Amino acid sequence: MKSILQKTKRCILCGSVKDLECHHVMFGPYRSVSEKEGLKVWLCPLHHRGNRGVHMNRMADLTVKKWAEAKYVSAYGKERWMERFGKDYEGAETSGFRVLEGL
Ligand SMILES: [Zn+2]
Ligand SMILES: [Zn+2]
Repeated sequence: MKSILQKTKRCILCGSVKDLECHHVMFGPYRSVSEKEGLKVWLCPLHHRGNRGVHMNRMADLTVKKWAEAKYVSAYGKERWMERFGKDYEGAETSGFRVLEGL
C-alpha cells in the first residue's frame, strides 16, 4: 500500500496488527484522489467497518480526516488540500478517538 500517512502496518486507532484493512481516508467521490495522493491508512475491522469504525462512526471518521489533512498540509500546503478535497477538517470536533502517532 502506498501511503503518505503511515509507515507500519498497524491500525492507526488502536495499534492492532490483526486482520487489517486498507482504508481510503477521503472516500466516496474522493476515493480515487485518495488513491493517487496516498491518503490511505490501515485499520482493524472494528475501527474500519465496526460500530467504532470510520464508516459507521462520524467522530472516528473526522478524527482520521483531520489528522490526515494536517499531515498532508504540512507536506503540500492548504491550497493543494482544498483544491483536491474541497473541505477543511481543521476545526472538526473529534472527541473519543485519537490517532496513534508514529505508526
Ligand atoms: Zn483498531
Ligand atoms: Zn474504508
